[in-house]
Amino acid sequence: MFRYRADVVHDLTGGKMLHVPRDALVRLLAQGLAEAGHEGPRFGCEVTEIRDGPEGVAVRFSDGTSGTFDLVVGGDGTHSKVRALAFGPESTVLRPLGYRGAAWRMPFSGRLDPPYEGYMEVGRQTILYQSGPQELSTLLCWRSDDLAPVPPGDRHREVSRAYDGTWPVLRRLIDGPVDWDGAYLDALCQIEMPRWSCGRVVLVGDAAWSLSFLSGQGASMAMAGGFLLADALAHETLGDALAAYEARLRPTITTVQRQARAMARSYVPRSRAGLWLSRILLPLLMSRPLLKLRARQLVAPSLIPPAS
Ligand SMILES: Cc1cc2nc3c(=O)[nH]c(=O)nc-3n(C[C@H](O)[C@H](O)[C@H](O)COP(=O)(O)OP(=O)(O)OC[C@H]3O[C@@H](n4cnc5c(N)ncnc54)[C@H](O)[C@@H]3O)c2cc1C
Repeated sequence: MFRYRADVVHDLTGGKMLHVPRDALVRLLAQGLAEAGHEGPRFGCEVTEIRDGPEGVAVRFSDGTSGTFDLVVGGDGTHSKVRALAFGPESTVLRPLGYRGAAWRMPFSGRLDPPYEGYMEVGRQTILYQSGPQELSTLLCWRSDDLAPVPPGDRHREVSRAYDGTWPVLRRLIDGPVDWDGAYLDALCQIEMPRWSCGRVVLVGDAAWSLSFLSGQGASMAMAGGFLLADALAHETLGDALAAYEARLRPTITTVQRQARAMARSYVPRSRAGLWLSRILLPLLMSRPLLKLRARQLVAPSLIPPAS
């Protein structure tokens, strides 16, 4: 078992490492769209067809509507449908990292102090985080080459199988009141594309460059990507803007992807000897002096110039 203090990481990264729950972020972004007078998200609707032509991009949606647009931006995550329709099958751009991950939030009546607690086992690593006075967030990661999607009804069985013989405290959490429909469970992978745009279709965020949660910067990179794309579109012609967006961001994405792959090699011990080594190294890695040395890896350099 290991513990670490989030406030130390927060300090060492100059306050740049913040905990923002994903649904809060979605709410804030939707609110920002509404305040700027733009149409908000249409939940439960997906793109079913994309045809790029001289008049624009003709798009059909699953709710029966259609439209023609100057530009289609695919920000629909690692398993992007826009990418599949415009660029080709996922298997050609997906780089598996050899793990499966699961995460969920659940009611919690105890108290973690400090609020982060980790459990390392052969083939598995688990992080628990007290995300509210009565709420616990979990992040489970285990070695697996299985890429098949797991439907909600099978998720408890899948996690139980992967965590056979685990610590009793983790067993109780897995068998506790988990909303498996809302839980995340997927293979950890990166997306590597030779180009992020094709004609009038462009990708941003995980759809273009999924980093995996091992690098811990996916949300900030997705938002930086959205900002840089919008900024380039505001100042240049379409072709130049798409090229500028990619040129500005790709070097950072390549570096962060490389760091995540390096992290993947040792994130979870393969053997008892590896576990023993982790027990010695982890407290050192989590200590303030070494975290200080690694702080530069935890936050990428700013990609967005400060507002004048
Ligand atoms: C367990 C876990 C922990 C993480 N922890 C961190 C962290 O600590 N820090 C960090 O910065 N990043 C973290 N990440 C990564 C981060 O969540 C992602 O990189 C980020 O959310 C990417 O944003 P995105 O908008 O590109 O994609 P997503 O957040 O995946 O958003 C894509 C959206 O598209 C929608 N969508 C998908 N398919 C379709 C479709 N066919 N039609 C219509 N809509 C569709 C989805 O519902 C979703 O709303 C973590 C990821 C995971 C899985």
